[in-house]
Amino acid sequence: MKKILLIISLLVSIGCVSAQKFDSNFEKKSMRFDYFRTGNSNTELISHDHIFQEPHWGGSFINLIDTFNYGNYKFEVLDSVSGKLLYSKGFSSLFFEWRYTEEAKFLNRSFSESVIFPFPKNTVQLVFYQRNKTMDWEKQYQTYVNPKDYTIVTQLAFPSQSFKIHNNAPSDKALDIVILPEGYTAAEMQKFMNDAQRFKDYLLNCKPFDAYGSKINIWAVAAASSESGTDLPGENVWKNTLFDSHFYTFGTERYLNTLNNKMVRHLAANAPYDQIYILVNTDKYGGAGIFNYYSICTSDHENSDFVFVHEFGHGFAGLADEYYTSDVSTDGLYAHDVEPWEPNITTLVAFDRKWKTMLDAKTPVPTPSSSEFESSVGVFEGAGYQAKGVYRPKMECTMKSVRYNDFCEVCSKSIVQMLEFYSH
Ligand SMILES: [Zn+2]
Repeated sequence: MKKILLIISLLVSIGCVSAQKFDSNFEKKSMRFDYFRTGNSNTELISHDHIFQEPHWGGSFINLIDTFNYGNYKFEVLDSVSGKLLYSKGFSSLFFEWRYTEEAKFLNRSFSESVIFPFPKNTVQLVFYQRNKTMDWEKQYQTYVNPKDYTIVTQLAFPSQSFKIHNNAPSDKALDIVILPEGYTAAEMQKFMNDAQRFKDYLLNCKPFDAYGSKINIWAVAAASSESGTDLPGENVWKNTLFDSHFYTFGTERYLNTLNNKMVRHLAANAPYDQIYILVNTDKYGGAGIFNYYSICTSDHENSDFVFVHEFGHGFAGLADEYYTSDVSTDGLYAHDVEPWEPNITTLVAFDRKWKTMLDAKTPVPTPSSSEFESSVGVFEGAGYQAKGVYRPKMECTMKSVRYNDFCEVCSKSIVQMLEFYSH
């Protein structure tokens, strides 16, 4: 008993020291650095937009350094005097996917992006990284930010009412998800609140999220669009909505996204958040999920429960698509001679770093897609939009097929690790 008490008091004091570390470097609100990522299939550069001070900080006071090494990009916040690393986070972006499209071979485009970190007390160095061809980090851009700079916007750009629709845990010890309405008119705001409640249940009834209900806070922010629905550019349907979301992203009908990052972030700032989920008011099938960027899906398709958790697998846990028959234009997204960073696919280049320890000794690598291995964790060829050279952990999974509440063992483990990171 004494030993247990000693361990508990040790853990509490470690927590206090870490929280103190937060207090000595940061204030309990957020700094949002908006920038443009500009380029084409070969090059990209970062240019400044605006810096905002936001009233909430949804993240941990203790887990400030990213331990996952996921994402196509990452950023670091360092003390400008000592060079000490204070905060870091990996992420991906829509621009990264666009780089693999045909038009990126002959066009330049700019996408608005944001990074968010706790509001620093002193001048910090902000450093952006991208992965090179061998998947190692390469410094892309660096700048200094003085928190006392008077050009930092301290006014909330789009004040809106936020509602806590699930749980009441302290935000630093919980995963905070903010659900934003897209294509709901003022007359449809009650529908949005009902839809948000329904989607909350989709998440909390899905394994492994179901065991973490007390460690997940869900918020909904009310804001109306002028018109109902979303754009269908391929069908010449245009709606005047909050985020200007649209299907047909990069030529794929069901690929639903928004390029209006600033408006998304302005609205999200009304609640403390770790993850943004945009709910689009339509019965059409579609969505998107980009790691630590946003997740988006539609409200009223019969498979919306599946799409909601599938896209959150991307946006929250950095999971890759495990399917390999697809009309998504992502040629060359996964090179076969390097190990991808996503935890649930492998090229077998560095499988030791993936789910190798979860394999039964008798399971062959690669694993035949036969009924014998139907319920086994294995290494099945076909994943990441490619039939050959990329492998997935299970024959079926929520990240492969239209199957709600069926994350495979490897995806589930990755989700749990991420939930633990946010809730400590
Ligand atoms: Zn899976």
